[in-house]
Amino acid sequence: MSKNTPITVAYGDGIGPEIMEATLNIITSAGAELDIETIEIGEQVYLRGNLAGIEPSAWDSLRRTKVFLKAPITTPQGGGYKSLNVTTRKTLGLYANVRPCISYHPYVSTKHPVMDVVIVRENEEDLYAGIEYRQTQDVYQCLKLISRPGSEKIIRYAFEYAVYNNRKKVTCFVKDNIMKLTDGLFHKIFRDIAAEYPDIENEVWIVDIGAAKMANTPENFDVIVMENLYGDILSDVAAQITGSVGLAGSANIGENFAMFEAIHGSAPRRAGQNLANPSGLLLGGVMMLNHIGQSEIATKVHNAWLKTLEDGIHTYDIFKDNISKEKVGTKEFAKAVIERLGQVPGKLKPVKYKKSDEVKRKQAEVSKLKIQQKDLVGVDIYLDWRNGSAEDLGEILKKVGTDNLKLGFISNRGVKVWPDGEPETFCTDHWRCRYVTVNSGETINNSDVIKLLEKFYDTGFDFIKTEHIYNFDGAAGYS
Ligand code: NAD
Repeated sequence: MSKNTPITVAYGDGIGPEIMEATLNIITSAGAELDIETIEIGEQVYLRGNLAGIEPSAWDSLRRTKVFLKAPITTPQGGGYKSLNVTTRKTLGLYANVRPCISYHPYVSTKHPVMDVVIVRENEEDLYAGIEYRQTQDVYQCLKLISRPGSEKIIRYAFEYAVYNNRKKVTCFVKDNIMKLTDGLFHKIFRDIAAEYPDIENEVWIVDIGAAKMANTPENFDVIVMENLYGDILSDVAAQITGSVGLAGSANIGENFAMFEAIHGSAPRRAGQNLANPSGLLLGGVMMLNHIGQSEIATKVHNAWLKTLEDGIHTYDIFKDNISKEKVGTKEFAKAVIERLGQVPGKLKPVKYKKSDEVKRKQAEVSKLKIQQKDLVGVDIYLDWRNGSAEDLGEILKKVGTDNLKLGFISNRGVKVWPDGEPETFCTDHWRCRYVTVNSGETINNSDVIKLLEKFYDTGFDFIKTEHIYNFDGAAGYS
């Protein structure tokens, strides 16, 4: 029986085929034991009318191999085409996006000579759930969803990554001074899980100042774990300030599947000219080799690549007259790496990946849920209303209530405007009307909400959504 590991490969669009060929050439020359299944994804599939950019037969291959090495693709302009990356991540449950962002000073020009940061980004939740609504003439909404299991999985992954890769510190970026419940949950889970790893330093920064510090003094950071949106933005920042986005690889890891790629796109203007730098995809390939247990080959490839950079053999994107020795194309770069297989860099730090059986990584386990007492204590009714001021609305709604629910306050874009609103506050046509129990401390049920909604309907109000107000073990589960 073959001891090769089956993997699925997609050559992608633009510069994709050239950098994939170079990558596969290098890793197979290094002795990678692979059975490659090729699938077609991207532009041509989209243009055949498949809005997802991937054929059903491609999913069969991915289900068989569970490992995907993917070149960048071009998403055609125009409506209706779904992001293949988002589809793949969600379909295969690839909850962790891992992007090592490293400087190669003095061989690649960078403002930050000392930088070795790994961004661990949550990949499935947050504002990327893709749940959006237009609710009124003026107001649109995007739902931010943060879950306990999702947060536990990504944060534990970050700590396990730190242990496995001899990293010293894990930093968490959140915005829980504003988003007290969603980012507050992420922060709390980070604290809980950090306590299980006393040998790894941990810290939490508010994302704005954290991002500024990362961009200014990246040498002070090691592993950084973030929710989806912050991670999406800041992993590009981190890659860019190492000197080039063309140099970073990325792993998307799930419980049963994994996808490896470069972080850059298909660079269509450079396609077919033997110009592109294959380094990002090659480093994605190195992460793949580690993932499938071929860590010795991963070490060999990575060190040969570092030696090539160090020898000044550079593609156009990183070529600098005063640093580089030879400007090469994609194919020649790959040949130079292959010639250096078995060598290690002299100045840049060589890598030595652990064999997969040396460290047992904890699975993405999720702690057992302790069910809390959930009590319905009120309801927010959102109105589309343009007929007057906050004061006018308050005066009307004071009279719209039921035996056990009365108006508590009204807010507009999160600012309380009734009672005692400030006349200067700008109001849109999107009103949140908080109804609370007449006797404080009482609980209600869904039929009480329905009765209240009937009152709204009878009064002619256009209610656009309701949000139930719960206490969990007596603690407020709302803002
Ligand atoms: P891009 O990353 O393709 O290009 C940005 C710039 O970097 C360009 O100047 C390009 O020439 C240069 N560049 C990128 N990779 C390079 C490499 N390996 N070697 C040398 N130079 C390189 O970003 P874009 O121009 O915004 O997007 C082009 C297409 O790629 C779009 O269709 C976009 O949707 C797609 N895209 C795909 C992925 C993916 O499949 N993972 C990611 C990002 C963008």
